[in-house]
Amino acid sequence: MPAIGYGEGTVNDYDIAIIGAGPAGLTAALYAGRSKIRAVVIEAKAPGGQLLNTELIEDYPGFKSILGGELAAAMLAQAEHFGTEMVYSPAQSIRIEADGMKVVETDAGEYRAPAVIVTAGGNPRKLEVPGEIELAGRGVSYCAVCDGAFFQDLELAVVGGGDAAVEEAVFLTRYATKVSLIHRREEFRAQPILIEEARAHPKIEILVNKEVESINGEHKVSHLQLRDTVSGARSRLDVGGVFIFVGFIPNTTLIDGHVDHDKGGYYITDPMTMMTSVPGIFAAGDVRAQLTRQITTAVGDATTATIAASKWVEERARGHADIALKLMAEAAADGGRVV
Ligand code: NAP
Repeated sequence: MPAIGYGEGTVNDYDIAIIGAGPAGLTAALYAGRSKIRAVVIEAKAPGGQLLNTELIEDYPGFKSILGGELAAAMLAQAEHFGTEMVYSPAQSIRIEADGMKVVETDAGEYRAPAVIVTAGGNPRKLEVPGEIELAGRGVSYCAVCDGAFFQDLELAVVGGGDAAVEEAVFLTRYATKVSLIHRREEFRAQPILIEEARAHPKIEILVNKEVESINGEHKVSHLQLRDTVSGARSRLDVGGVFIFVGFIPNTTLIDGHVDHDKGGYYITDPMTMMTSVPGIFAAGDVRAQLTRQITTAVGDATTATIAASKWVEERARGHADIALKLMAEAAADGGRVV
């Protein structure tokens, strides 16, 4: 397939390099493939991203419920069907050359493209308390779907007050005899419907205004030391494992040079095009600053980013890249259609 923007490239020259194969990356791959754009997806691990850490998905249209792994496999098959290449190697960095070409450095070699769509997701935030690192994999976990089955008939703790913590606390009741959901405040960030489900669950006890001071155990987790954030009183909670869901750190450190981001490290993107402050670098999904991070928003972002990136690459080939997106955005704002 010829590259539209770069012309006679070498084997590793593409129109668009997509970093990450979660829902956003696989959607970008689908749209690029169907548009006959020469695109490569560079993924460090298995395709699916956070889908692989989610048991059951009930908020993706078209599926009353589907396993995260099944949805990931279906998205991958569809992207591959339309011809997008996959490379399984961690991206180490993205270099921007003097002529504006982006070079993605991986252990498998360098991949060059005028446009990059960063859909690299992120990693779970750590609690940063004594015992967390020492007991990781020995009772400390960040993935209920991956590790829940190892905790059959034990009492467990889940830390956090967002959607992930509450949802996974409910999930872990499949294995645990009891789940203590520990949150540092009274109010939860999680959706009310999830909180209601957790409150009503006979195996879940919700402990509010409590923070974990340390995770303890000889060779595996045996108990947590808690501190009441209101009274300061300390208490001990005996558990066989602790699952930590206290947020997410976006993978936004790959690019040298400055890309505008918010205080959480999430890329700030143009809402009309998903382009970051660096021309030709687009972002979609969990790496992007936005109100919410859902599968549906990730695939929507990626759709916009891929269409905008392909227009940008075409205009760049004609020497108009600098003004292309501005004109597209103005046309869209005027009620004109981009596609
Ligand atoms: P989140 O919404 O950012 O919530 C993180 C939680 O961890 C907050 O309750 C926060 O407490 C707490 N926390 C942070 N640092 C802490 C610390 N050092 N010690 C104790 N607690 C700490 O993160 P998330 O739950 O991972 O969700 C991330 C995004 O994915 C959200 O947009 C969420 O809606 C989405 N998501 C959606 C679904 C779904 O719709 N089914 C499922 C999972 C995730 P404070 O509230 O006090 O700050």
